[in-house]
Amino acid sequence: MSVLIDDLRAIVGAPHVLTEATHGRQALSAVERDWRKRYHGRSHCVVLPGTAEEVAAVVRRCTSEPGVSLVPQGGNTGLVGGGVPDETGRQVLLLTRRLNRVRHLDRDNQTVTVEAGCVLQALQEAVAAAGLLFPLSLAAEGSCTIGGNLATNAGGTQVLRFGNARELCLGLEVVTARGEIWRQLDGLRKDNTGYDLRDLFVGSEGTLGVITAATLRLFPQPRSRVIGWAACADLATAVALMRRLRDSFDAELVGFEAMNATSLALVARHYPDLRRPLEGTHSPWSVLFEIASPHDEAGVRALAERTLEAALEHEEALDIALAENDTQSRTMWALREAIPLAQSAEGLNVKHDIAVPLSALPDFVTAADAALASLVPGARHITFGHLGDGNLHYNLQVPEGEDAAAFLDRHEAAINACVYDVVIRFGGTISAEHGIGRLKRAELAARKPAAALAMMRAIKQAIDPAGLFNPGVLLPDP
Ligand SMILES: Cc1cc2nc3c(=O)[nH]c(=O)nc-3n(C[C@H](O)[C@H](O)[C@H](O)COP(=O)(O)OP(=O)(O)OC[C@H]3O[C@@H](n4cnc5c(N)ncnc54)[C@H](O)[C@@H]3O)c2cc1C
Repeated sequence: MSVLIDDLRAIVGAPHVLTEATHGRQALSAVERDWRKRYHGRSHCVVLPGTAEEVAAVVRRCTSEPGVSLVPQGGNTGLVGGGVPDETGRQVLLLTRRLNRVRHLDRDNQTVTVEAGCVLQALQEAVAAAGLLFPLSLAAEGSCTIGGNLATNAGGTQVLRFGNARELCLGLEVVTARGEIWRQLDGLRKDNTGYDLRDLFVGSEGTLGVITAATLRLFPQPRSRVIGWAACADLATAVALMRRLRDSFDAELVGFEAMNATSLALVARHYPDLRRPLEGTHSPWSVLFEIASPHDEAGVRALAERTLEAALEHEEALDIALAENDTQSRTMWALREAIPLAQSAEGLNVKHDIAVPLSALPDFVTAADAALASLVPGARHITFGHLGDGNLHYNLQVPEGEDAAAFLDRHEAAINACVYDVVIRFGGTISAEHGIGRLKRAELAARKPAAALAMMRAIKQAIDPAGLFNPGVLLPDP
């Protein structure tokens, strides 16, 4: 195996291959452990190619080494353990962070071609500097990469208007298991020449190939943004408020997020400087909405005020505040985005990233809350997320004062089964955003229809017959 490391050094340059012997265990641990600290593997080595050609050469070399497999990793912000190696010490961890160039921005076509290791926020900023908008936005945007976003088909806060990463992607450059580079970066919006290969790789979680670049859709920057906060008595009224805003603003309603009171209490504990709007109003639910429009702010604001007055009259909210300036807008978003960080600071927890049809969401939460109350009394419900997409992070924090690890050992499997049973009963999915990774393979096996699983396995077998890419992730064992 040391010959493998020497050969990889020859391909990417010695400084770009990290091993325990040259860089120490601590440096490797940082990329071998996942963001939630639930998985801590051991790689054979870490390799950082600088071009697609180098990635292809790494793949070809690894294919010829029996028993070795490859794990692609971008920003390592994934929440299901898909981007870290297992414990065998036989996996090469391929970091994309040196593939970080914005290759080409085409104003007329409204597209950008960017390498996979480019950090999402860096792309947003580069595109904004050219007066355009790349709308994918999530709390991990300062670290997550375009390749990771596509490999997980990331969602985020603007899906309501712009769709998931899949909808934003027009083409890909991928290194396949044969060590070939497949390029389709022409930025076409129409191409009916057979199976859509791009869509196979989007959401494949590193199991079919290494994404090295992508061509992505861009949009005009909105002329005005109006952001508001509403206190709601329950989820059903929050859904009614959304319907009203959508009737008024149609596609200009770009974000609609809900948070329960326990989520915000956790943020208050860990981020006391973030002041909640409408602090005087006690409400079980809070809602953050964003309207982004090509029209002047005065007109948008006036329509928002009329719409919200009607919402108050119909008791769709207890109180509503519109942000008066950028600072207030940023604080509202910071509160929402601090929830996963506050959960992490509070300690181990159980996360569910579910979606059900929006019309069924309030009843789903009532049913799931009731089922869990009898299963794990005292567990804290941290329920928040992209209400507009029917997607909630339906999470549980262990009861105050209990040992988190022991609690998870005892209850996690039963909690998951309980929540997912209710999800399926309401016609939903066990993963709306984060994917399957290592965490949810067993659940996928239990709940995905057999015909779908068989087709997924057939695709994997056709594209990566030797199982080079990310074994142990996404696909359940046969
Ligand atoms: C605070 C926080 C908030 C988050 N909010 C959201 C949210 O709102 N919506 C959402 O969808 N997700 C969210 N996430 C999850 C995570 O940020 C996304 O899944 C993100 O898209 C992962 O990108 P990454 O570069 O960090 O990928 P990684 O974590 O490095 O990898 C994730 C998966 O993609 C594969 N992969 C990575 N790069 C490539 C590549 N170039 N080619 C092939 N496979 C690759 C890996 O093997 C792994 O299976 C959040 C995470 C955090 C920590």
